[in-house]
Amino acid sequence: MKPILWITCKLPEEIVEPLKSWADVREWPTVEVNMPHEKLEEIIQEADILWTIMDNRVSRELLQTAKNLKLICNLAVGYNNIDVEAAKELGIAVTNTPGVLTETTADLAFTLMLITARRIIEAADEVRNGDWTYWGVNHLAGRDVHGATLGIIGMGRIGEALAQRAKGFNMEVLYHNRRRKPQAEEAYGFSYRELDALLQESDYVVVLTPMTPETKGLIGKRELQLMKNTSILINVARGGIVQEDALYDALKNGEIWAAGTDVFVQEPVSTSHPLLTLKNFVALPHIGSATLRTRKEMMEMNIESMHDYLEGNPIRHRVV
Ligand code: NAP
Repeated sequence: MKPILWITCKLPEEIVEPLKSWADVREWPTVEVNMPHEKLEEIIQEADILWTIMDNRVSRELLQTAKNLKLICNLAVGYNNIDVEAAKELGIAVTNTPGVLTETTADLAFTLMLITARRIIEAADEVRNGDWTYWGVNHLAGRDVHGATLGIIGMGRIGEALAQRAKGFNMEVLYHNRRRKPQAEEAYGFSYRELDALLQESDYVVVLTPMTPETKGLIGKRELQLMKNTSILINVARGGIVQEDALYDALKNGEIWAAGTDVFVQEPVSTSHPLLTLKNFVALPHIGSATLRTRKEMMEMNIESMHDYLEGNPIRHRVV
């Protein structure tokens, strides 16, 4: 009997086909709509292995209904969508995809800094919509990225990769992290700051922590008010680390100059979301790791974990 492998999204044929030699593969059939939670509740009862995406909310209650589940492979480095403590207690291994998406996500974070600072979305829309009718001295004028001060909250793999990019733009790099990183400070000249000081001093604040009970709502009204009114906030981590209501008020009231985000509390975000009415807000649809090469490597990493499990070897890329 082959183990039942349930894939909760539609993956490329060339990835899925080889899995059929060792697994009874069952998969969500379409890319247009994500698997609804009710379907997840149904399939978790029959899966031996579950291949999830961050959209799938795998709670303790859900895990308790699983009958044969032994392994969950999450197609992301973040795993805040899974109750890993519950999984551990229930003897279910959980794996993720750290490392392979670091550089790609850092590229996206830097892109978001540039397009937000230089008002690229507004500018491109103007040309496309036929609204480019004049040249004005301050028309679509943005802010310089080069030479500015970058504050990174969460100096992990992606944070460090972003900081390396910033050096090429002659930026000063400040960071705030759970633990200090003296080696990075010495090797690259990054400076540690307490959170409040980082917010006060930075021209660009980029959030790159995982979503945890400690980081949920980390950036709210008070923190946004500490930032310069010329500064730009970027969130490439997870929706909910930045409080969306507070961000809306800060942007609307000119407490900060602009913001760019790749992530929302509720994804896909509703087109009626108040933030989307603001010109100084740039939104992307959670594409941090979305390059063809990186996505392939992420899938391969998850498959490595599955093979380890099948062969009874220590499971690589294991979170719990
Ligand atoms: P990582 O290497 O684990 O880095 C996370 C860093 O955040 C660590 O240095 C950690 O500190 C720090 N941290 C954790 N809690 C903190 C807190 N309360 N206060 C301050 N710092 C804290 O992870 P990564 O690979 O860089 O990824 C970071 C996050 O980015 C992921 O968890 C994921 O949610 C998000 N992400 C998003 C996308 C996207 O598509 N938008 C793509 C990839 C990743 P320690 O050194 O003490 O552990």
